Amino acid sequence: MTDRQHEPLDRSRSKAAAERAARVIPGGVNSPVRAFRGVGGDPVFIAEAGGARMTDVDGNTYIDLVGSWGPLILGHAHPAVVEALAEAAARGTSYGAPTVGEIELAELIVERTPCEMVRLVSSGTEATMSAVRLARAATGRDKVVKFAGCYHGHADYFLAEAGSGVATLGHPDSPGVPAAAAADTIVVPYNDLNAVEAAFAAHPGQIGAVITEAVPGNMGAVAPLDGFNEKLYSIAHARGALLISDEVMTGFRVAPGGLAAPADLYTYGKVMGGGLPAAAFGGRADLMSRISPAGPVYQAGTLSGNPLAVAAGLATLRACDDAVYRTLDATAAEIQRMAGEALAKAGVPHYVSAPSNLFSVFFTEGPVTNFTEAKAQDTAAYGAFFNTMLEHGVYLPPSAFECWFTSAAIDEEALSHIEQALQPAAEAAA
Ligand code: PLP
Repeated sequence: MTDRQHEPLDRSRSKAAAERAARVIPGGVNSPVRAFRGVGGDPVFIAEAGGARMTDVDGNTYIDLVGSWGPLILGHAHPAVVEALAEAAARGTSYGAPTVGEIELAELIVERTPCEMVRLVSSGTEATMSAVRLARAATGRDKVVKFAGCYHGHADYFLAEAGSGVATLGHPDSPGVPAAAAADTIVVPYNDLNAVEAAFAAHPGQIGAVITEAVPGNMGAVAPLDGFNEKLYSIAHARGALLISDEVMTGFRVAPGGLAAPADLYTYGKVMGGGLPAAAFGGRADLMSRISPAGPVYQAGTLSGNPLAVAAGLATLRACDDAVYRTLDATAAEIQRMAGEALAKAGVPHYVSAPSNLFSVFFTEGPVTNFTEAKAQDTAAYGAFFNTMLEHGVYLPPSAFECWFTSAAIDEEALSHIEQALQPAAEAAA
């Protein structure tokens, strides 16, 4: 396939939808990265999806390497998930009272992860902000250390040098965040343990928590240096603080129980909801027993443990057997190889960063070990690459600062489609 043979896709209905949406929804989208601001062009409006593919409102079909930003590990409309949802919906959509499904999901998470207890919530943002509240309550200290380029949702005190959409749009932080909220957040470079030590030395007895992405994915995928998570845990403990390992992206994706590095509290989301809003925070029983009504630390949610989200999550996690993880790992490795070869052949500076089956292709020589290095990439080259992949039927993250997400639905045919699209895309980025 070359660009000479390629008829441009008709995306006129998506364009019209984008204009219509922008009249009633800020920027035309309900989450910023969807707007394609980081890559130029108009967002694609999706009409339906199945397996590895999504179809837009103009009838164009794309191999999906975003998977709703992580949740769709099995691909779209997986029969077990659809069936579980239909069955659950027929029994009612929400009760605001406890259900046995919630116990089953909590038991499954406890079985697979280092957590002894978990509380179900509806978004990763809620999970991380609740974990921070709990860590502050348990230590009696307000300050939190976070890493530049890591994203933990959109709570006030996390919007300091955050990754994901904040990085894509080039915001240093956000208007509307009170100075007092941001004052308790100490931002240090990722992979820099000396900076963590220095933060503790500068604020003795004041830091209650260090929060880290188990493997950062929101500045693109960045590998923790050897022993980084373990040393972080030791440093935090030596100084009387707790470590929160944010596994919203890695949980149940990089392995059945997530990365599971040592930590006091863990947060999950994405995969555990199977495409519906479900998330969780959890950890040691002595800490989790401080959560209301077992203890005084308040946390609540009208739709927490929603029966549809629980049904989709349970069906997804139960379907995630060893074969799924083998497929994910193999598919991710194959796409990395193909992308690396295509970009090398076209002479495009690039760095394939693959700490796990979560990976990114940075448009810089690399290596990329922190946010400063991630930001050194050529985002215009990524934009040209992204738009050409889209034209050739492959939907990549519309931002150079995100991971590529594979799914178990990506088969040989999808891989060969991706390989064909990579050649013109790499040439466009040159
Ligand atoms: N933590 C991490 C590591 C994430 O990747 C995200 C979202 O991408 C969040 C937290 C926030 O999750 P949500 O978007 O469900 O609020």
